[in-house]
Amino acid sequence: MRSARRRLCLFAAALGLLLGSTAGAAPIAFLGATVLDGTGAPPLANATVVIDGDRIVAVGPSAVVPVPADATRLDVRGKWLLPGLIDSHMHFFQSGGAFARPDVIDLRAIRSYADEVAAVRAAIPATLARTLASGITTVVDFGGPTWTFDVRDLAARTPAAPRVAVSGPLLTPYLPPEIAVADPPMIQIATPAQARAEVRRLAAQRPDLIKIWFVRAGPDLSPQMAWIRAVIDEAHAAGLRVAVHATDLRLARAAVEAGADVLVHGVDDVVVDAPFVFQLQAQGVVYTPTFAVVEGYARALGLAFRPTTMENRTGDPAAIESILQLAQLPVRPRGVFLAPVPPLDPESAANLRRLRDAGVRIAAGSDAGNIGTLHGPGLHRELELMVQAGLTAMETIVAATHSGALLLRNDDIGVIAPGKAADLLLLDADPLADIRNTTQIWRVVRAGVVFDPAALIAAAR
Ligand SMILES: [Zn+2]
Repeated sequence: MRSARRRLCLFAAALGLLLGSTAGAAPIAFLGATVLDGTGAPPLANATVVIDGDRIVAVGPSAVVPVPADATRLDVRGKWLLPGLIDSHMHFFQSGGAFARPDVIDLRAIRSYADEVAAVRAAIPATLARTLASGITTVVDFGGPTWTFDVRDLAARTPAAPRVAVSGPLLTPYLPPEIAVADPPMIQIATPAQARAEVRRLAAQRPDLIKIWFVRAGPDLSPQMAWIRAVIDEAHAAGLRVAVHATDLRLARAAVEAGADVLVHGVDDVVVDAPFVFQLQAQGVVYTPTFAVVEGYARALGLAFRPTTMENRTGDPAAIESILQLAQLPVRPRGVFLAPVPPLDPESAANLRRLRDAGVRIAAGSDAGNIGTLHGPGLHRELELMVQAGLTAMETIVAATHSGALLLRNDDIGVIAPGKAADLLLLDADPLADIRNTTQIWRVVRAGVVFDPAALIAAAR
């Protein structure tokens, strides 16, 4: 049986793609790579990593790690071996293309929002494959329709897919009418009683976290804080942690004081003050700066979108085409403006450095699916911007691996160590020398199955 499986694997390897269950298959030994284990520990040169089934079983210097006699030996000298990347903030209900958010650019005269959502749902297997081909082995869907729970189920039974965590619908003070379809991505909340009822209803679907969209706050925060506090209390009582979208310091502070566990999107209006920094640190709040989405919207809406090599390689061609077509429309839609793409916001960058310096846990999230931020490539651009903001390449890699696992409270992923899930990323170039080398992907391993990214993309078309 084992030899038959091995023959199948070798046949698949000849096609550049290993598919199927590895349960019962031979262990695989990766020999000679430089290992970055995800914790920020110094790189381990000339290392051996052995995986068996869906587990890592050994890691260490090649001179001391024994290779099982029946292992398939892969010579990976000259390559870098990392945990698979974790995108701690994305949305499956959005394609990344121009039709994704009619509340931002209304193109419903060209394609109805219902048709867009149907197309997005039909493309989910391809989106999963593209994400995995981008080196991402876990994603956190931070807000979407209830059908995103089905995406989690699909991913769990699909080898060519990342692990998927979902929050279900965002709890919000406001539902944009353009996206108020059946099974909307957001649920509008007005009262604490309603908030508690919705959290209980969501909890029945076992979300990985709960997400609040904290926007449209007036000078008096108390009406909104009443229901936000109720969401957080009810979620915590159910053992669920809460992530809050809050980009003003005033709102982020109120959310954290109410017990928020994760801040998605950095504070971008002012430089954060010492009490706020201390509270994040003391409370163990995870902070995801989410820079890429700002630039993504600016590129797309400013008609300045020129796909990068990575976007052309693993991005959704239909999403890319829809953005490029914006410039061809006979009438310029509301929302499209001609302005240069702004540089990285200095307050946002300063806040990331300040929080890093204070030891606050930083995770990497792209907000992929929003217009101009493509599933897969979006995270790589986020990593580049985090380095531009002042994190080291190593800190950025930790943010995109171990810290993503901490955000999920999942100690099975995000680091390379014996007993952990065999989710790996093998690069052809050194990401510490240049963070953009995270795009130089040789192979991706998810639950012990080795994938060639080019073959995943070819199968996704
Ligand atoms: Zn988002």
